[in-house]
Amino acid sequence: MPCRNCSGTGISAVSVICQRCSGTGEIIIYDSDGTERMQLCPKCEDGMVYIEQTCSACKGTGEILPLSS
Ligand SMILES: [Zn+2]
Ligand SMILES: [Zn+2]
Repeated sequence: MPCRNCSGTGISAVSVICQRCSGTGEIIIYDSDGTERMQLCPKCEDGMVYIEQTCSACKGTGEILPLSS
C-alpha cells in the first residue's frame, strides 16, 4: 500500500527555519559606504527552507509493506 508519510512519492519534504535570515525572509546587507539595506533572502522562501529527503517511513520506495501477522 502507498506510504502515507510521503503520499507514495518516496520523498518527504521538511521545512526548517532559514539559518541565513532566521526566518524573517530578509537579510541586511551593507553597501560599500556602510549603509544598511534590506534584501530578500536568497536562501529561502519567506524564511523557510524546504529540504527534500528520502522518506524515512518507506525508505524511498513509496510503498509500505503491510505487516504480516
Ligand atoms: Zn532566509
Ligand atoms: Zn514514504
